[in-house]
Formats: sequence, C-alpha cells, structure tokens
Amino acid sequence: MTQRQDSSKRAARLVVLGPQGRTGGAVWLVGAGPGDPELLTIKALKTLQIADVVVHDGLVSDEVLDLAPAAARRISVAKRKSRHSYSQDEINRMLVAFAREGLKVVRLKGGDPFIFGRGGEELEACREAGVACHVIPGVTAALAAGASAGAPLTHRGSAQAVTFVTGHAKEGGEPDLDWESLARPNQTVVIYMGLSMAAPIAARLLSAGRDGATRALIVENASRADERRIVTTLAGLADAAAGLSGPALLIVGEAMALAIPSAHPGESRDPSGIDDILEFSMGPGFRRGERVVK
Ligand code: SAH
Repeated sequence: MTQRQDSSKRAARLVVLGPQGRTGGAVWLVGAGPGDPELLTIKALKTLQIADVVVHDGLVSDEVLDLAPAAARRISVAKRKSRHSYSQDEINRMLVAFAREGLKVVRLKGGDPFIFGRGGEELEACREAGVACHVIPGVTAALAAGASAGAPLTHRGSAQAVTFVTGHAKEGGEPDLDWESLARPNQTVVIYMGLSMAAPIAARLLSAGRDGATRALIVENASRADERRIVTTLAGLADAAAGLSGPALLIVGEAMALAIPSAHPGESRDPSGIDDILEFSMGPGFRRGERVVK
C-alpha cells in the first residue's frame, strides 16, 4: 500500500465520532502559551472547557491539557521519532473531518498558533472546506522567556526592534535569513527552534558584523517548573547551547544585559514573587502544586 493510501485510510478511521450530519461543529486554533497554565488566556481556558476533541502537539503541557473536560477526546499529533507522525495534511483533514461531524474541535498549540505554529495552514484548510475556524492567541515563548529573565525584548536606547526568526530551514539545515539585517546593533533577535543550529547561527551573525560581545540569553522550558536560563554573549552562544535539550529559545541583543540567569536549573518559574504573595495571603498550606484552575 502506498503511503498516500495508508494516510487517507487512517484519516478515514478518525472520523467515526459523534452522530452523523450534526451541525455546529467548528475548529478553534488555541494558543496554549509556553507551559505555565496560568499564562493561558481566559478565552483559551473557556474554549478548552467546551471542547469535544482536543488535538494537541507535543509542546502543550500536561497541566494545560488537564483543563479540558474529562470526556473530551485527546489526540496527540506530536512529532515522534520512533512511530509515525501525522503529516500537516493529515492534521488539516482531521480537523475538518471532526468539525463536519458537528464536534467542537480545539486545536491546541504551544505558545501562539500563528508564531511558527503552522496555524495559518490549518486556518486555510478550514476556510477551503467551509468549516468555521476561530483563532485564540497565546503567549508566545519569546514573551515568557523575556519576562522570566527580566529582560525586555524592546528597550529604549538598546533595542528598537525585535525580530522572531526560525533557526531551521524547511528542508533541515541552516536557515536562509537576512543576516546583514539581523547583525545590525540595537535590536533583539529571537531564534525559535535554533538550539541544534546555535553554532552556525552565531557564526553567521558574527561574520555579518554583529559584535561578539553582544549579550545573549538562552531560555529552556520558559515558564515551566524546570525552566533554565543562561546569560552569555553572542561569541559564547554555541558553547552555552551545547548540552541543552530544549525546547529553548536563543535571544541575542543588547537589552539581554538585563537578563537574570537561573540561580540553579529548575528554580521557581515565577521571579515576580506573585506566588510568594499568594502563599503568604492564603496561608502556608497553599503550595504551587495544589492550585487548581476551575
Ligand atoms: N507556537 C510556539 C512556537 C512553536 S516552534 C510559540 O508561539 O511559542 C517550537 C519552538 O518554540 C521550540 O523549538 C522553541 O524554540 C520554542 N519554544 C516553545 N515553547 C518554549 C518554552 N516553553 N521555552 C522555550 N522555548 C520554547
């Protein structure tokens, strides 16, 4: 059997839920934020709570997934090394098929659906199929990383612009970016999916003229309990990235001089101190792990 026949057979098997011919189905592309469930928007939470089906990728934390109704069907379309991963086309068809069954389909994506999340392709597939599709934005990883480190992505005088780039080319290998423009001073460059490409990316920025002493920040697992932040320079970026497994962002820019590294890996994910304040006002029995969002 060809791969195409195999995948269409699989997609056909995925559409047997719910009574036939119901109307009212729709797709919501929902940003799950960077991991901490308290960084979900209220709208994302409300939508999740009415979901019939939740189709999620690997970046969505269990704490967020647990906010969906127990009766909702959860489908992971995370990329897997050992087993078959769903192709983007299969995911698109799955979303459309479920919605046509009359189901409320929540497509839950890490961060924001429209920042390196392929949300645009899913939206187009829904539009082409005449299926209603709503988009609920989420806190993209860059915003959580800057917030945790206390490092603004734009900063008067030292960061007049911020650019989000991908560290991965479509076919794997080095990304094809406008290095000359990214090498100009007084701007922040946030690199998503750049961990394994840290060395060539840093080399490109350096050879395009960005100063090796420019501050750089790496944030792994931003907003999660095991968040880790490393403050370095562009010249030290590759060494600092080696040994991290991600998900992680590389952030290069003068404003990263304000970044605070982790005291040790896995320190509190909340340097703002709000958890301490809550704990104080609610008594010593109130611990992070005990909080439940209802
Ligand atoms: N849509 C997502 C990005 C998906 S691309 C968003 O808006 O955040 C996947 C990349 O995002 C990862 O390779 C990593 O670079 C980054 N990323 C996602 N979640 C992260 C997190 N909690 N901490 C650090 N980086 C993260």
